[in-house]
Amino acid sequence: MFKVNEDYLKLPGSYLFSDIAKKVAAYQAANPDKSIIRLGIGDVTQPLAPAIIKRLHEAVDEMADAKTFKGYAPDLGYEFLRKAIVKNDYEKRGAEVYIDEVFVSDGAKSDSGNIQEIFDRNCRIAVCDPVYPVYVDTNVMAGRTGTYDAETGLWSDVIYMPCTEENNFAPEIPKETPDIIYLCFPNNPTGATITKSMLQDWVDYANKVKAVIIYDAAYEAYISEDDVPHSIYECEGARTCAIEIRSFSKNAGFTGTRLGFTVVPKDLKSSDGVSLNALWARRHGTKFNGAPYIIQAAGEAVYSDEGKAQTKEQIAYYMNNAKYIYNGLKEAGYTVSGGVNAPYIWLKTPDGMKSWDFFDYLLDKAQVVGTPGSGFGPSGEGYFRLTAFGSYENTVAAIERIKAI
Ligand SMILES: *Cc1c(COP(=O)(O)O)cnc(C)c1O
Repeated sequence: MFKVNEDYLKLPGSYLFSDIAKKVAAYQAANPDKSIIRLGIGDVTQPLAPAIIKRLHEAVDEMADAKTFKGYAPDLGYEFLRKAIVKNDYEKRGAEVYIDEVFVSDGAKSDSGNIQEIFDRNCRIAVCDPVYPVYVDTNVMAGRTGTYDAETGLWSDVIYMPCTEENNFAPEIPKETPDIIYLCFPNNPTGATITKSMLQDWVDYANKVKAVIIYDAAYEAYISEDDVPHSIYECEGARTCAIEIRSFSKNAGFTGTRLGFTVVPKDLKSSDGVSLNALWARRHGTKFNGAPYIIQAAGEAVYSDEGKAQTKEQIAYYMNNAKYIYNGLKEAGYTVSGGVNAPYIWLKTPDGMKSWDFFDYLLDKAQVVGTPGSGFGPSGEGYFRLTAFGSYENTVAAIERIKAI
């Protein structure tokens, strides 16, 4: 007679985005003549750039020829891709990362969810609040989070770092000492960033208390301001305390094709001297059989001159939407942040409205769908997320509707 993993049964309620989909479907069924604009999505909408499509086609043809056919990929990923990553994402920014520290994967969601496996069950995690739900939920599955309080939405063994208007949505060093610190900048959902010197403070703190930082840089390509770091390895001392997770999803439109990577420096050791690079290599080799050759080849094309120019143009398109949303909401009298180094706009609901009430209000009055801030954590209550991933036309129409309420 089998039983299931009890830690999985601790996961609370349903998934945020399925709750939203249900509400929207019910509204549409009751109002079949209304056109709904969705600015709640965290998914790209522009097709893959021509340079990437061209390389995909070529790589498919290589698979049809016995001389160029590829079977299993090397454990860490193809060297051509890891070389391109090190050269373009790190060397260019003066960050020290070596090709045998780059682990190519099928994306940042799985890497950010899986990386906790290599740590002890009793490690304390610290997360920003609001937060990308994957960090906490995967630690719940691992039995690391204690008990859930449905009233507050908090786990007893998790250290929360509230990110609100008062601290400019930047986490502060927590009172209790964590073992694992999750940071994500530019941030989803708030769109906030921190400066290089603020990130340096986190690196210094982690080295001092011997904690590890898991740094999610999925939105790195959206950074437009100079003193915002693209990688944690731009900070001195990060090689002894930080793991960095990257994705091709938002920077190059790979949400449907799947590609990402994680950097685990060889200088990163546990307090008893275990190399995390070796441990992650062992885990990766055992549980993962590589991102497809065709997709890794396409990933290399992202770093070609054409690929860089074309993906830069796509990001500029989204960021133009972000600017439109940001300015439009300000004109309409909202308190807004984000949208400068990230495709997310974070707004304060008017008159202290609850996030879900504002969701209903916006759907009913303007037929615009966004994401309730409270879905990302208790400190997100009273906030709301809009994304810049829609089309320009829809973005403009949505803002006109919101202004007209
Ligand atoms: C979208 C997103 C990712 C990317 O996930 P993939 O699995 O690479 O598509 C990772 N982290 C955050 C915070 C995200 O918003």
